[in-house]
Amino acid sequence: MWKRKGRKGRRAARPVPMELCDLCARVFPEDDAVRGYVPDSSAAHATQPCFDGLRLITACCDDHFDVIKDGYAHRPFVEEELWAAKLTRALTTGTPALSMDQLGCRTGLQDPQIRAAIAWHNERMREQQRTDP
Ligand SMILES: [Zn+2]
Repeated sequence: MWKRKGRKGRRAARPVPMELCDLCARVFPEDDAVRGYVPDSSAAHATQPCFDGLRLITACCDDHFDVIKDGYAHRPFVEEELWAAKLTRALTTGTPALSMDQLGCRTGLQDPQIRAAIAWHNERMREQQRTDP
């Protein structure tokens, strides 16, 4: 008599890790991804400061990678913006850093850089308020 096998007998299909294209938002298998870093002063890496100022691009094909890369090539690299990104990371993760010394230790920035970053950030906030209705 034929006996039906239970679920244990079947091999479950292993899920394929998927990626999302940064340009067209197409979902595709991770192994097909085209990846690379581009300079971007707004990018502070969540855990590895040596990647600060670099943005990881993920694309579905070489053409889409190049389109994104060309976009970043025309974006100005502003040191104050990168310092502000490092400050934001320091102020929004881990134990709160309250003093300039603590901020300096957490970001690797000197006092003048921290002040320049705060001034840059505040100026962007004022610009935003002027353009918002
Ligand atoms: Zn794409």
